[in-house]
Amino acid sequence: MSLSLAKELNPLNTEPQAESRRLSTPNPKKNPPSKEHEMIVVMEQGASDAQIQHVAQLIRELGLTDHIIKGTERTVIAAIGDDRAKNKENLETVPGVEKVMPVLAPYKMASREVKKERSVVPLGGTLGASAGGKKVCLIAGPCSVESRPQLLNCAQAVKAAGATALRGGAFKPRTSPYAFQGMGEEGLKILAEARDLTGLAVVTEIMAVDQIDLVCKYADVLQVGARNMQNYNLLWAVGDTRKTVLLKRGLSATLEEFLLAAEYIMSKGNPNVILCERGIRTFETYCRNTLPLAIVPEVHRISHLPIVIDPSQGTGHAHLVPDMCKAAIAAGADGLIIEAHDDPEHALTDGAQSITPKTLKEMMVTLRKIATAVDREI
Ligand code: PEP
Ligand code: MN
Repeated sequence: MSLSLAKELNPLNTEPQAESRRLSTPNPKKNPPSKEHEMIVVMEQGASDAQIQHVAQLIRELGLTDHIIKGTERTVIAAIGDDRAKNKENLETVPGVEKVMPVLAPYKMASREVKKERSVVPLGGTLGASAGGKKVCLIAGPCSVESRPQLLNCAQAVKAAGATALRGGAFKPRTSPYAFQGMGEEGLKILAEARDLTGLAVVTEIMAVDQIDLVCKYADVLQVGARNMQNYNLLWAVGDTRKTVLLKRGLSATLEEFLLAAEYIMSKGNPNVILCERGIRTFETYCRNTLPLAIVPEVHRISHLPIVIDPSQGTGHAHLVPDMCKAAIAAGADGLIIEAHDDPEHALTDGAQSITPKTLKEMMVTLRKIATAVDREI
C-alpha cells in the first residue's frame, strides 16, 4: 500500500495524538509491532461463499479471529488478534482474494478501513427504527421510568411527535447514592409494555454485567452509560449478546478511546453499535457538559458506525435542547436521543434538561426542514 493511501486510510496518522503516533510509527525496541499488522483481507468482487469461508478458515489456522464483513460491493475479512511472526501476506495468493491490507487505526472493526459503507444498525420495535441510514432516528422519553402512567403517556406522546424509539432508565447511575436509583425490573416491565402498546423500540441502560439477562429480556437496545464507557467487562458482556448497543462517550474520553470502547463490543462479534455523543466535561459552567458536534463529521470520516447526539445530557438545560437538535442534524448526526417528560418540574431525574412532548412535536417541523436540506429524513 502506498504511503498516501495509508494516510488517507488512517486519518489518525495524519494528525497524530500521542497515543496514535505511538501506535502508527512503531519503535520496534519499545513497542512490538503486533498492533500494526492486523490485516483485512479484501475479497474480489463476486468472490464465492466457499472462497470467503476458506479464507476465514485460514485466518483461524493462523490463530487469529476472523470477522466477515459483507459490504454492498465486496466482502472483507478482518483478521484480528496478536499476530507477531505470522505471515498473513500469503493469503494474497488464495483464490478469491484481491488484496491483504494492514489496518492502521488502533480500532479495527469500528474503522472505515475495514468497512467503507456506513453501517445501518437496527433498533428494534415494529416501526422500522434504525440508525445510520437516510432516516435520522429519534429516540425520546424520560430520563427515568417513574411510574406506569408516566411512561405509557410519555411513550404515546413521543410517538405522536415522530419518535420511533423510547428511552427510559430503569437502572440509573446517580452521582449521589441517596438519589433515586430507578425502578429496576418493574421499570423494565413497564418499558416492555410501552413497546407492546406503541411499537417503539426500547432503549434502556445496563449498568452491570450481572444485569445482562434481565435487561436483555425486556430491552431492544442496551445503553452503556458515559460512566461505564471504560467498564471493559461490561463492554465484553454486551459484545457477547446480539442486542444493539448504544454506547455513550465517557465524560473525559477522547474519540480514540471512545472508538476503542466500541471495538471491545465489536471484537466479541456484535456489530450492532451506535455511538452516542452526550457531551464532555470542560471548564465551562453555563451548561452541564460541553457538546462537541464536530465529532459527527469526524466519526463519519474515520468510522462506519452511526452516531447519535444526546443534547439533554449534552447541555443540561431544556432551553438549549431544540437548537442543539437542529445543529446536530445539520452536522449529519444519524439520530437524536432526547429526554422528554410531560411534567419536567416534577421529574425524579433530569427535569431541568427535559423538554415536553409538545416542544418535541413543535421542534420536529424545523428538524424535518433541516434534514431535507442535508439530504436526510426524520
Ligand atoms: C441518561 O441517559 O439519562 C444518562 C445517565 O446518560 P449518561 O450516561 O450520558 O450520563
Ligand atoms: Mn438523564
